[in-house]
Amino acid sequence: MDPTALDVPRTLAWLAAVDAAVERREAELTALDAAIGDGDHGSNLRRGFTAVAAALAGPPPETVGAVLTKAGTVLISKVGGASGPLYGIALRAMGAALLTATAGPAELAAALAAGLDALRGLGGAQPGDKTIVDAYAPALDAFRQTADRGLAEAAGAAAAAAEEGARATVPLQARKGRASYLGPRSIGHQDPGATSTALLFAALAEAVRAP
Ligand code: ADP
Ligand code: MG
Repeated sequence: MDPTALDVPRTLAWLAAVDAAVERREAELTALDAAIGDGDHGSNLRRGFTAVAAALAGPPPETVGAVLTKAGTVLISKVGGASGPLYGIALRAMGAALLTATAGPAELAAALAAGLDALRGLGGAQPGDKTIVDAYAPALDAFRQTADRGLAEAAGAAAAAAEEGARATVPLQARKGRASYLGPRSIGHQDPGATSTALLFAALAEAVRAP
């Protein structure tokens, strides 16, 4: 078995790394959202992932999926903004796909795909609409293309692709969410949700990095 298979402790470490990164980068995420939205993306995620950490503080669940489902449920209930239900439904769909104590790269690729499908089903965004999808879709592609090289490498490739996808939202005009109300004035700014998606994939790479 891949020595870096995603198990329950690593899944918890992933979510803890997200919580820490959101805390560190709250002001940056909020500033991005202030430019083309309502300036609450950092605080929305801070509230959500702090609540996720609290909900997971007790005895650990038995499967990777149970951890992710719980995290998704908490995000949906605690985050008022669009990003809470979108990330929440993605994590819940991933959770439903991973009802085992460990998941290898192929299983995680399938779960990440289920997460993106659920997010797109709820939000209706296409690639290029300047949303979460613009970081998530390239991350999933990169993960799939490198999955046979092991989880750590696939997660690293996904994180790099998500980061690049987030940066590539700068010249795009928003067609979904609050930023779309700005029309062409949304051009020239990096999308906050795509940026937090890059943060989520970076945290995953950190959590599964080979020891
Ligand atoms: P709100 O827009 O309700 O204030 P947030 O500020 O927390 O919520 O999140 C804004 C981010 O949500 C945007 O930057 C965008 O990436 C993402 N987003 C908004 N609508 C959608 C959608 N329909 N599909 C995918 N992502 C979306
Ligand atoms: Mg906002």
